[in-house]
Amino acid sequence: MNPLDTLRHQGLRKRLVEGLKIKGIKDEKVLNAISRVPRHLFMDSGFIQFAYKDQAFPIGAGQTISQPYTVAFQTCLLQLKPHDKVLEVGTGSGYQAAVLLEMGVNVFTIERQRELYLKVQQLLPQLGYFPKFFYGDGYKGLPTYGPFDKIIVTAGAPFIPEDLLQQLVIGGRLVIPLGPTDQQIMTVVTRVSEIEYKKETHGTFVFVPLLKGTEQ
Ligand code: SAH
Repeated sequence: MNPLDTLRHQGLRKRLVEGLKIKGIKDEKVLNAISRVPRHLFMDSGFIQFAYKDQAFPIGAGQTISQPYTVAFQTCLLQLKPHDKVLEVGTGSGYQAAVLLEMGVNVFTIERQRELYLKVQQLLPQLGYFPKFFYGDGYKGLPTYGPFDKIIVTAGAPFIPEDLLQQLVIGGRLVIPLGPTDQQIMTVVTRVSEIEYKKETHGTFVFVPLLKGTEQ
């Protein structure tokens, strides 16, 4: 048990999880994962007191830690099975990666902002989370590590990156918020066969944009 994760924080998390249930998150495994991850330890000191509010907050480099509801919703849509190989595009604070690891899957996570990429590699192992970290452009995925059972994109994409489709196993799922910068539609793409994909949509969300290339 991490000494920085006090009974008070655990209590606040319980309330957060109750709130997520009321908002329609039903998957017990996802709710349990959220209840185990100390979100306050992923946040900048100025926002720690708000860690268990169901809101997004700044994490530096102009980026945000996603809202817990959004993290829960995307995690549900992935339909994870134990030991799935999962690619996350947009490591950010590392919070979503930690929730995925709590679901018992193998996580490969990629970030384009060097500052965040370096920061999270210090933090996550300290908290007992060990995804594989990559610095690069998530539009390209990780061709040498694929294919993946599941891919989650945690930034708003203007279109579906072809490379990510190619890196899905047959039967695999890509969960991606699609649309312009002001609002995106949560989209699930399932690879049905070598050449066929099926698309379904799940409501509107607002993410920071998926940007091209990398940034020092
Ligand atoms: N999953 C994160 C959410 C972070 S916000 C969390 O739980 O905190 C989205 C992140 O995507 C930002 O850190 C941003 O820098 C990153 N990002 C944007 N475009 C990207 C790209 N092309 N490749 C990789 N990461 C990208």
